Amino acid sequence: MAQSKSAIPQVVFVLGPPGSGKGTQCAKLVEEFKFTHLSAGELLRGEITKGSKDGALIQKLMDEGKIVPVDITCRLLYNSMQESSSNRFLIDGFPRNKDNVDGWERIVGDKADVKFCLFLDCPKEVCLSRIMSRHEGRTDDTPEKFKLRIDTYFKETVPIIEHFGTINKLRSIPSDRTIEHVYADVKTAIGSEFEIGKFEP
Ligand code: UDP
Ligand code: MG
Repeated sequence: MAQSKSAIPQVVFVLGPPGSGKGTQCAKLVEEFKFTHLSAGELLRGEITKGSKDGALIQKLMDEGKIVPVDITCRLLYNSMQESSSNRFLIDGFPRNKDNVDGWERIVGDKADVKFCLFLDCPKEVCLSRIMSRHEGRTDDTPEKFKLRIDTYFKETVPIIEHFGTINKLRSIPSDRTIEHVYADVKTAIGSEFEIGKFEP
């Protein structure tokens, strides 16, 4: 039977360095497991494009490789969850630091069930070469901006990934392999908690 909208939304956080394959693997999970994919970075870029009141601040912080205040990011995520008829979500690229974790607790907290964090583990040299070979028109996909982003990742996001490990909510997958090899492990990890193709709005 399809799950009803009234059930608490189930969430998987997807983390990993820039270029580790988060978006690519999420797209495959959307197909097979009927997740709704919410990329924090895409939602923030949407605010820049719309020219919303936070757009200028978001653009500045992104270009510095810094993390946007959680009230902005988490509201975008939570509004998208509420607007969706789905009740299983992949939240890609969030939470990136302690401020993000605390803000999620404050803004969403018990209103969602965070199953675990899926961590795509990839050496930074591989990440840089992938980013240099993708051409998505992003202003932060340059070697200089990558350096700022990866520094922020090691300083602020790695401790959050480790935190999920200490509470037994971390599924780590080496992602320095082909998309299909990585996905085979991703599918096993997700399949331990979710049935294939289950959600029907
Ligand atoms: N960002 C942020 N908070 C988030 C997600 C993204 O502040 O929760 C900002 C941050 O400046 C980051 C940029 O958006 O460097 C791009 O994020 P995205 O996840 O799109 O890039 P990725 O790291 O996946 O390449
Ligand atoms: Mg991404």
